Amino acid sequence: MLKCGFLAGLVPALMGSMALAQGVGYTDTPKLPGQEWRVHDKNRPNPPVVDAGPGLKEAMPVPADATVLFDGTSLSAWQHGDGKDAGWSLVDGVAMEVKRGTGDIQTREHFGDVQLHIEWMTPTVIEGEGQGRANSGVFFFGRYEVQILDSHENVTYADGQAGSLYGQYPPLVNASRKPGEWQTFDIVFIAPRFGEDGSVKSPAYVTVFHNGILLHHHREMIGATAHRAVGAYSAHGEKGPIKLQDHGNPVRFRNVWVREIDSSR
Ligand code: MG
Repeated sequence: MLKCGFLAGLVPALMGSMALAQGVGYTDTPKLPGQEWRVHDKNRPNPPVVDAGPGLKEAMPVPADATVLFDGTSLSAWQHGDGKDAGWSLVDGVAMEVKRGTGDIQTREHFGDVQLHIEWMTPTVIEGEGQGRANSGVFFFGRYEVQILDSHENVTYADGQAGSLYGQYPPLVNASRKPGEWQTFDIVFIAPRFGEDGSVKSPAYVTVFHNGILLHHHREMIGATAHRAVGAYSAHGEKGPIKLQDHGNPVRFRNVWVREIDSSR
């Protein structure tokens, strides 16, 4: 289980609300390549808040050609990293919820370039601060994270808030809804390509809409997601699992589907 920002979540809780107003994050982490900021930079401005409107009561329709990964009835498309059946909870025939301590879950099926739709909700009972509040995440190939967090009136470092490419890029805006409201991610993930010698032929590219609002447009990822370090690539196959993170917080998910993209067309 990747513990992104767990300690960072404790820091503001210990320092109190004055510290929050002055920025949260680090000043001793490495510089991000091609950017003026450090990883989880305390001084990096948080993006502006945009009101995305109320959450949808009903799940969005599923396209006819989509592969449904979760429709509320079964966790059969998911397993833990060791191959055991997914131990998360089903809720009301609609959602699944992170069961603390069971670990991340990932798709049994592997995917390359995809369009992913996923709906998520952070708990109405607010616990923790910063990275400790409703942390989860979507990891493509099990290693490239689009961050899930309660970023409604919850300050953390900019490259760690909801919709960030964790530790690399903040979202363009903060389109977060309140806890207890359903939110959507629509993500286009273009997988990296590697040469036979393991070199990067082309990096991963990510486009993210959060509640219908653009957060990243064809953003080039620096490498695999890392905490307090600059992410790096290591060669992998053409397809990999999509992983959801157990960061110890009872985040819920519903209506998860992918459409595979044939990038040769
Ligand atoms: Mg996370």
